[in-house]
Amino acid sequence: MKTKLCLLYGGKSAEHQVSLQTAKAVIQALSLEKYEIHPIYITTDGQWVKGPILTQAVESVQALQFTKGDEIVPNAMMSALTPNENTGYDVVFPLLHGPNGEDGTVQGMLELLNLPYVGNGVLASAAGMDKVIMKNIFAQAGLPQVKYVWSLRSTWEADPHSAYRYVEEELGYPCFVKPANLGSSVGISKCTNREELEAAYKEAFQFDRKIIIEEGIIAREIEIGVLGNDHPECSVAGEILPKTAFYDYKAKYEDGDTALIIPAEISETVYAKMSDIAKMAFKALDCSGLVRADFFVSDEGKVLINEVNTMPGFTPVSMFPLLWKHSGVEYPELIERLIQLALERYEEKQ
Ligand code: ADP
Ligand code: MG
Ligand code: MG
Repeated sequence: MKTKLCLLYGGKSAEHQVSLQTAKAVIQALSLEKYEIHPIYITTDGQWVKGPILTQAVESVQALQFTKGDEIVPNAMMSALTPNENTGYDVVFPLLHGPNGEDGTVQGMLELLNLPYVGNGVLASAAGMDKVIMKNIFAQAGLPQVKYVWSLRSTWEADPHSAYRYVEEELGYPCFVKPANLGSSVGISKCTNREELEAAYKEAFQFDRKIIIEEGIIAREIEIGVLGNDHPECSVAGEILPKTAFYDYKAKYEDGDTALIIPAEISETVYAKMSDIAKMAFKALDCSGLVRADFFVSDEGKVLINEVNTMPGFTPVSMFPLLWKHSGVEYPELIERLIQLALERYEEKQ
């Protein structure tokens, strides 16, 4: 019996195109002897379109962009996923990043439908998407990180000058202003003075009603992949060398010339510190399946955790799969392991 695997991809977020690339690569890596692949494409305007069961690997992302024209399917979302005689999925793999995919909403729906799914559950996904909540949990777990404060749009609007003064007193310059609930560096600015801080607040509040402001530091950016459920394992570490002032959206998705150095040139002591913290972060957020833990590492070997990403970039040339490849787990095996972990987690919960 083949495993009926439902792939969810596309989505309303800025990472729609990336998700399509991921879906193509995942389909190409899966054995059609072993899996029956049921694709569900989420269009950029949020419609869920069920494609035909795949009988061969797709060669282009266009082949994955199903369309129903202007037809609005009532409850398309639920009916696309509700098992019936034709579907009855064994497991769902959400290949979605950012809000409405990585933030616990899709995961909540899959819980309600009682379907096993790859990756993090509702709590870890939601907590990982909100940088303030994530950092509060890390602080509670005693993990080292940069100093931060946060603000709501309504508080700022009521008295912007006090908001700026508070940041200047608590953190000073340079500082980073970020929307609390995004990824891909969207809406993030580095500020070195009051004028830039004002502009950064306006920018970040375009994307969210809540923002986080962090002390800006100069450090290397090094990442580790974590894989597992109750007993997570760490990959080797990889370093990002952005060609821009910081690792912004353009550097991540458009330029493609950001260098990834794997394994990162760090001492064993620094790696040991990082992998301990990565596992502690994984447990503190009650993660499952996978995360990519991102760190700032100073030249003196000081390690600070920046964030975890609960659905990291997953194309074969993305950091997370490359970290595992260098740790001896090739892309097809990585996918297998994630599906296995999803089924184990589902069993564990029953
Ligand atoms: P995202 O979730 O969008 O990736 P990050 O918090 O990772 O957001 O920030 C994006 C990038 O901005 C980082 O990879 C780093 O280059 C830079 N950056 C973020 N916070 C800081 C900070 N406190 N100090 C220095 N650089 C930072
Ligand atoms: Mg992130
Ligand atoms: Mg990041």
